[in-house]
Amino acid sequence: MYFKDIIGQEALKQQLIHSAETGVVPHALLFTEQGGAGAFPLALAYARYLNCTGRTTDDACGHCPSCVKYDILAHPDLHFVFPIVSKKEKKKEICDDYLTEWRSFLKERPYFSLDDWLDYIDAGNSQALIYSKESDEIIRKLSLKIYEATYRILFIWLPEKLHPTCANKLLKIIEEPPPHTVILMVSEHPELILGTILSRAQRIPVKGIQAEDIASAMVSQFNLTTDDAHYVAHLANGNYLKAIEAISTGDENRFFLEQFKSMMRNSWARNVRGMKEMADVLAGIGRERQKNFLAYCQHLVRENFVYRFQAPELNYMNREEATFSIKFSPFINERNVFDIMEELALAERHITQNVNAKMVFFDLSLRLTVLIKR
Ligand SMILES: [Zn+2]
Repeated sequence: MYFKDIIGQEALKQQLIHSAETGVVPHALLFTEQGGAGAFPLALAYARYLNCTGRTTDDACGHCPSCVKYDILAHPDLHFVFPIVSKKEKKKEICDDYLTEWRSFLKERPYFSLDDWLDYIDAGNSQALIYSKESDEIIRKLSLKIYEATYRILFIWLPEKLHPTCANKLLKIIEEPPPHTVILMVSEHPELILGTILSRAQRIPVKGIQAEDIASAMVSQFNLTTDDAHYVAHLANGNYLKAIEAISTGDENRFFLEQFKSMMRNSWARNVRGMKEMADVLAGIGRERQKNFLAYCQHLVRENFVYRFQAPELNYMNREEATFSIKFSPFINERNVFDIMEELALAERHITQNVNAKMVFFDLSLRLTVLIKR
């Protein structure tokens, strides 16, 4: 990760570059963000830049011995701490046990969320934590002599996940790390961090990415048209992960949209056979997905109602949904929107109460035949 790979955040980059050049490097920094703003890649680019022996005024060189080791995230003076799921049977109890996964994970995606990481390591429903055992590891590593780096770096990704015992043991080291050691923390929920840790670190708030910057990244990285790119940037609201999500409509979303379309078509055409077939399909997808589908329908109806006001800043649909809305939105109006929403909410409640799903969906389609023509 280099500064040039960071989307937007120019002022922060300059601030960090300035800190490296003047040698005024705080011993503990806490980057905070709401997610998808690039706090982690920024901190990583900063760590690389601090240690690069051939750096220019705007970035690390990419070929000095330090950069080469940073490329593969295997530098003897670079340590990572991050939430994990303890798997005793597989002997995975501390961060280093996950180091191989962690490196390939970071290599694959510079921007990521905790959920992305947990999916990557098949965490299942287990709670991810930085376990108390980790503090001994950290203290041991930082007590060693620095091998070769100008600055030894300790990353703590999501210090809000530190087990209280671990956090308490680290207080002293965060307050006064060994010489030439820099602790870089990246948090999405600083309000959950122990106050005594907060007060020991200098805070760097990373704001959401400017819409302009997200838009140009969409154009250069995904070849979106300028119009599409601005549209996606608006949906993303400063969060690059949301922008990615918006351009990659998931399979589930596409399936739901198709079902919604045929439900509305069947009801409009009073196609009873179509309604029955659809009820059969939906009855077979399981309760949880049925509920999600009905929630999705309510979202689409709301968006199509808003669509009529020609106020794009209020609309939150992806491209495919928006295309569909050009034709569909005229059917949703003041006379039917609230009743349709109510029917969908009622169907959702019935699904929750284990009413026969086939009946729920068939009934719903029948009622819509009346409402959609209002
Ligand atoms: Zn370098």
